[in-house]
This record gives sequence, structure tokens and C-alpha cells, in this order.
Amino acid sequence: MNKKLIAGNWKMNGSLDDSKGLIADVVNGIFGSQVLLEYCDFLVCPPYLHLYAVRHALHGNDSVAYGAQDCSAAANGARTGDTSAEMIADSGCSHVILGHSERRQHHGETDETVRRKAEMAHKSNLITIICVGEKEEERDLGVQEEVVAKQISGALPDSANAQNTVIAYEPVWAIGTGKSASAEDVKSMHGFIRRKLQEKLEDSNKLRILYGGSMKPENAKELLATENVDGGLIGGASLSADQFLKIAQAALA
Ligand code: PEP
Repeated sequence: MNKKLIAGNWKMNGSLDDSKGLIADVVNGIFGSQVLLEYCDFLVCPPYLHLYAVRHALHGNDSVAYGAQDCSAAANGARTGDTSAEMIADSGCSHVILGHSERRQHHGETDETVRRKAEMAHKSNLITIICVGEKEEERDLGVQEEVVAKQISGALPDSANAQNTVIAYEPVWAIGTGKSASAEDVKSMHGFIRRKLQEKLEDSNKLRILYGGSMKPENAKELLATENVDGGLIGGASLSADQFLKIAQAALA
């Protein structure tokens, strides 16, 4: 059985104390229900400034991995405000989220930017979670597969393989709206992404494809049981340890 990746994107939320409390609650919850580790791998992606507190709270406990929400496309130097992939890896992170729709929307990131960031992240041995997904108007026009195909071919670098890359399918209209995609639409899009990956990568069947967009305890069972759904990228619900772990519980057979 392949374990599901249950990944929390904490975004720009919470105080330092909130992050410390949240990671402690997540770890305690997993400790109290160790069967979860047979079915799930866990990842949390706090704000950069809280990464060290999360690392400290984990004390080397590897039941929860941690990652960053972005990295620079440059290796180092005159990039005020940026954080390099090497710095992220050096702080103990195993993963980095790239190309989230909020970065595309608010920071003008293109597939080309995401590809350059992913190359940099792979050089630092980080696992990239590359986000793709169509906007509402694109789904209304029925061009969601074209949009996602373009994102995959533009954003995945040649260095990508199933060990260092995860794809997160996150329809933009489902992020933070409370309205998730239907299991039927998720099955269809994840199947499409799998076929696209097969054209590009040799080990494509092992590459994890996550669903993200208003995943919560109420819809997680159906979404996580859907063909080609290898886990979830969870925003709002990951800010509550209880909700986050309930989503993981939904992965239990
Ligand atoms: C996200 O931003 O990656 C996300 C999936 O958010 P939410 O779960 O809040 O829709």
C-alpha cells in the first residue's frame, strides 16, 4: 500500500506561539494514534520565520516532515527578501511548495519561474510540490486540461522524478472557498495528469499527485479514496490539528 502524503500549508498565518502550539498538537495527535503512520506521511509548511520553532519542537522526531512555501530561483546574492533553496534545505526542510496559485496571482509567478525554482530546489535535494490548477473561468470554458498540461510542461524541470517531485492539483476556484472539486472531476483530472507525466518521466507511476482545495474532514474520505489521489495539500483545515488529523484518519482503509 502506498502511504498518502498529508501536507499542511499554513500560509502566512499565526503567531510564533500559534505555530509552536499547532505542531505540538499535531505531534501529540499522531503519537496518540500511531496507526496513522502506517497509512500517511505527514508534512507541514509553516511561514519561514516559524520553521526553526517547528524544527525545535520536533526534536528530531521524523513522524512529521517540514517544508517551506516558496524558494528563490537564484542561488544566493543580491535578492533582498528572498530565501534560497540551499538555506531552506540547511534549516532541515525536506520539501518546498512551488507555484502555488497565490504566488502566481500576487507575485506574478509564471511556469518558467516555477521551473527555475524547482531546478534550484532539486540541486539542494529538496522535494518540490509543484502546484497546478485552472481558474474558474477556465473550467467554465472547459479548457482545464489544456491549462494544466501547459503548467506541467512549463513548470516541471528536466531534473524532476518521482523521488524529488510531487504534483498538487489545486483548482484555483476551490482554494479557500469551502467548495472542493467533485470526486468525479478530481478522478478525471488526476488521471489526465498521470498520463501527462507518463509522457515526460520514466517513473511517473510512482510520483505522488495531491489534491488541494477546501479539503476537510467531511470530504477527505471520498477525495483520498479517488483513483490517482496520493494525498492532500491542505490550507485552512491544516491550521487546526484536530481537522488536519481527522483528514489523515480519513485515509485509513
Ligand atoms: C491551499 O492553499 O493549498 C489550499 C488547498 O487551501 P484550502 O485547503 O484552504 O482550500
